[in-house]
Amino acid sequence: MICNYHTHTYRCKHALGDVDDYIEAAIELKADCLGISDHTPLPDNRWLGIRMHMDELQAYSDSIDTAKLRYHDQIHILKGMECDWAPEYAEFYKTELLEKYKFDYLIGASHCFPFDGEWEMSFDITTPEQIMAYANFYADAIASEIFSFMAHPDVFCAQYEWDEAAVKGAIMILETAEHYNIPLEINGYGFRKPKSKLKSETRTGYPYSKFWEVAANYDIKVFCNSDAHLPNDVISGIAEASALARQFNLQQVVLD
Ligand SMILES: [Zn+2]
Ligand SMILES: [Zn+2]
Repeated sequence: MICNYHTHTYRCKHALGDVDDYIEAAIELKADCLGISDHTPLPDNRWLGIRMHMDELQAYSDSIDTAKLRYHDQIHILKGMECDWAPEYAEFYKTELLEKYKFDYLIGASHCFPFDGEWEMSFDITTPEQIMAYANFYADAIASEIFSFMAHPDVFCAQYEWDEAAVKGAIMILETAEHYNIPLEINGYGFRKPKSKLKSETRTGYPYSKFWEVAANYDIKVFCNSDAHLPNDVISGIAEASALARQFNLQQVVLD
């Protein structure tokens, strides 16, 4: 079965194509299911440079509902959203997105995290203190139990030389995911990005095998997604992500 639950659209301003372009590419590539999950708008329109405006939410939701009807005999479509975690948005995700707009699922993500009174990028972590702040924040997102799965937990490894602090951060995330039974994502987009050049190695920034090696010690489930930002990438990276899951005996799951 080929399924991808992580798909963006032009609305986030760093992807191309609309809902139907991704669906048609997925049908062409013989995918069985496709979840559309653009970056969520936020009620205060924060971080607008990488997401749709609140005014676009209704049309986004409608376009997926319409596509579900149009393509129902060719592919299983789900209506999703990738949601940046911050406790002040929990109510919006639950009462607006899930209850009012009837999204099928929400992906939790932490592209940035609060540190020393600022928002730091999770992809640019370089100190043990930042790792612990990120891992704590990410664990809170898991514990909210709002999200069907959590996106790219291992982005904190992207520019960080693996060490004891990284293991500690990984354990905090993995223990929480196991406790709340929330699956984690092995994100295929990382395989399409430029390699990270660190002192000890040149490697994929994320997914990072050392994180998933630690994950093998926990009873966790994984989603293998493309995180498509181009219609042609609608299932890209899923095979590599699945290979990583198999290498560490991680149970791959899909949505209903
Ligand atoms: Zn994106
Ligand atoms: Zn993301």
